[in-house]
Amino acid sequence: MRLRGGRRRNTDDHRPDADGTPGPAVELRGVRRQYGRGVRAVHALAGVDLALPRGSFTAVMGPSGSGKSTFLQCAAGLDRPSAGSVRLGGTEITGMRENQLTELRRSRLGFVFQAFNLLPSLTVEQNVLLPLRLAGQRQDRHRAATVLARVGLAGKAGRRPGELSGGQQQRVAIARALVTRPDVIFADEPTGALDTVTAAEILGLLRHAVDTLGATVVMVTHDPAAAVWADRVLFLADGTFADGLERGSAEQITARMAALTSRAGAMAGAAA
Ligand code: ADP
Repeated sequence: MRLRGGRRRNTDDHRPDADGTPGPAVELRGVRRQYGRGVRAVHALAGVDLALPRGSFTAVMGPSGSGKSTFLQCAAGLDRPSAGSVRLGGTEITGMRENQLTELRRSRLGFVFQAFNLLPSLTVEQNVLLPLRLAGQRQDRHRAATVLARVGLAGKAGRRPGELSGGQQQRVAIARALVTRPDVIFADEPTGALDTVTAAEILGLLRHAVDTLGATVVMVTHDPAAAVWADRVLFLADGTFADGLERGSAEQITARMAALTSRAGAMAGAAA
């Protein structure tokens, strides 16, 4: 099992053959996640099968309670499915010990959250280098400078997050997510706290990372204007992927969401 990033080729390339690992970046087979037991059991994920190719940008949408957070948590090794298997970058993570999972997350996954999740006492550069530090890898300042330049923050390495705008903080988070050349970047409502113009800039950066670095991005969002940046949108309903849309327009995405939401509402009404 390959856990450490240090053996990977020292290039900016995330493309399929970049580290010789074949297969999809993310693969879920028969994934279920149940909360509680018996008649009170909630099937947050009720059988998810999915294979996301490397170098793809996928948006995951669905009505409230459809399982988006649970999906992200299970796919990113932050939660354990009740059944089924999850493979990341060709590595089976099901059954991994907690310390192995932690190491895998640090060295091979990138995370971008709605609330940025930067450490306020560290400089921008130190925040970007943190995943390498935590993974016990060399803190390559040149690499930090390269990823900061990529996200348009070349002159901000010595600043602290509190001195930056929300959009700039999210750029730092993207630089931090890119620095390890991860197999997958998981983004959870990455533009939820940003205005429309800044949101578009952030989504453009994620798109650019996919198109030019071959990065793989999986983004949970409720916003059709964000999902439209993805190659495809997958729609969750009642814990399974009910629908998908390739390169859909914002109108098409909105229409699919409306259909799923009214279906979910009708089912909730029938159950009441
Ligand atoms: P979404 O992110 O789409 O709103 P979630 O993944 O948060 O959906 O939740 C899916 C379902 O699982 C919901 O019915 C929710 O109430 C339930 N659920 C989520 N987390 C828990 C938990 N820790 N305990 C019990 N039920 C949960």
